[in-house]
This record gives sequence, structure tokens and C-alpha cells, in this order.
Amino acid sequence: ALERYASIRDVDCVSACGARVHLNMNAGLMADLPSLDGSGAEGVGLFRTELQFLVRNKMPQRTELAALYARVLDAAHGKRVNFRTLDIGSDKVLPYMKPNDEPNPALGWRAIRVGLDKPGVMRMQLQALFRAANGRPLTLMFPFVAQFDEYRAGRAEVEKTIAREQRLGHPVPETLEVGAMLETPSLAFAPRKFFEEVDFVSIGGNDLKQFFFAADRENERVRRRYDTLNCSFLTFIEGIVNRCAETGTPLSFCGEDAGRPIEAVCLAAVGLRTLSMRPASIGPVKHLMMRVRLDELRAVIKGACDEGHQSVRGPVMDYLRSLD
Ligand code: PEP
Ligand code: MG
Repeated sequence: ALERYASIRDVDCVSACGARVHLNMNAGLMADLPSLDGSGAEGVGLFRTELQFLVRNKMPQRTELAALYARVLDAAHGKRVNFRTLDIGSDKVLPYMKPNDEPNPALGWRAIRVGLDKPGVMRMQLQALFRAANGRPLTLMFPFVAQFDEYRAGRAEVEKTIAREQRLGHPVPETLEVGAMLETPSLAFAPRKFFEEVDFVSIGGNDLKQFFFAADRENERVRRRYDTLNCSFLTFIEGIVNRCAETGTPLSFCGEDAGRPIEAVCLAAVGLRTLSMRPASIGPVKHLMMRVRLDELRAVIKGACDEGHQSVRGPVMDYLRSLD
């Protein structure tokens, strides 16, 4: 598939109406990194750091992690890499951590909640990231931020760790951006001040959709029940776009839907301008994006919702077929 789209690999992704849409890739293992050049991705929109913790049988050491993150940054050649801090719990259980018996792990002790309650691991990971950056720019984001205070507390850990690194005489990143993943509907309604303080927001569509529809992403029986192109969900996404626009907060979307061409153009139509996806999806998404007028597609979506369609997929498919 990568070869099929080779002719547009080095072309900027611009819609037929002239909107520039940035396409990044998701990664998590060293093996993913060659795709950064091969796919035409502009950067790594989501680096899932938990994969390095999941493929081992004991907690990795700071020096090991620092070396690994340094290799990631070297391989990126200055392209931006959004390192997501450890996202464990729920569907991601570390084999060497005592499993906690929770009735609803997806609603349980996971992601930044673990990071804030047991800050040792988070501090170790932050130090590893800072040492890997070794004076270069660094971007990181916290998973599963449900309220402003969690972002503030995570950011305070970052500031404290930076200060400690400086005291120890280690170089600190040249620039540092700290984002939040929006994966629970609550964060979309956070105070305006949150959107002013956060450096960027990245929508984790997989989790966001599961909580928006209260439908377990792991449960075969319900996981496909609600369409991403559901009017309610697209309206909600557009609301997030508008909140970020009010404060000029950079926004991206990094769930699996960003890599599905039809979903991706609809996300762009409701205002997303940065998407992050599996490397193999970049070509197909770019190919379709370049053929679509987002203003027209936005009108199709709006019209279908106004007419009472539950999902806009039918009208959107008709519109896309009309482009041939
Ligand atoms: C998401 O929830 O959309 C996301 C990108 O994170 P993960 O799939 O790793 O939970
Ligand atoms: Mg998630």
C-alpha cells in the first residue's frame, strides 16, 4: 500500500478547497520509525510509550528508556514526536505489576490517574525523556486527562522534574510543550483557562468514542454499534474544535478513525486540521483528502444532521461517489 501512494508521498496534504491538513503517524516501537520517512508522515502525533513497558518482563530502567527515546528522536531528524506518558491500566496491563481487581477497568485506575497517584514511575519516565532530548525540543502529552486539575498536577511534576534535572547539571529541553489527551467528554467542558494553559489538545478518539456512547471498545457485541459518523459525535467533535479555536489551542485527533479515509475527511470537514494515524493510512487518507472540498462536505454533514439522519455515512458516501 505504501508504494501505491508513493507519488503523493512528498506532497503536502491540501484539500480540494485549499485547506492544509497535517498528517502524522502513530508509533510505539523502534520498528515503526522507518515509516516516518516511508509514509510521508509530517511527524509522530502519538508515540505510545507503554508499548516499551508492555514488551518486557520487568520495569525498564531510566537509562534504558533514555537511550531508547534518544534513538526515537534521532530517527525523527527534527520532526516532531509527541511522547505520550505511560498509559497503563484498562486494556493495557503490565505483566510485572500487581493486577488490581477492578469491576470496571476502563473506568478505573489507569493512565494519568496511576501517574499522579504513584509519581515515581512518571518522574522516572520524564527524566528519561529530558535526558533523551539532551537540549533538543521536546513534546509530551498526558493520557486520559478528565479534568483541569489532573493536567495542572501533571504539569507541576514536569516543572519539578525539570528543576531537579537543572540542579543535577543535566541539559533541559530547548523548548517543551505539554499537551493533554481529550479522551473523556468531561474535558471538552473544562474551564476556558484549561484551554489557555494547555499547550495542545489531542483527541484520543478510541477512548472518547467509547465514553461518549458508553460502549466498551473491547466488547465485540457493542463496539461497532455506534458510528463515528453519528451526528451526535460529529457535533461533539465540532464543539471541541470551536473551544480550541476560541483560545487558539492547537488541536489534533489521534484515534484509529483518523486513519479511515471517510472518517478522516469528515473530521477535517468539522474542523480538524491535524490527524495522526497508522503509517499505512497516510497515503489513502491524503489521496481522498486532496479530492474533497471540505466546505461542501461540511454542508452535506450539516444537511444530513438537520434532516434527522442518525449517521451521515449514507449522504457522505453519495457525495464522495459524486466526485468520480
Ligand atoms: C485513543 O484512545 O484514541 C488513543 C489514541 O489511545 P489508545 O488507543 O492507546 O488508548
Ligand atoms: Mg486512549
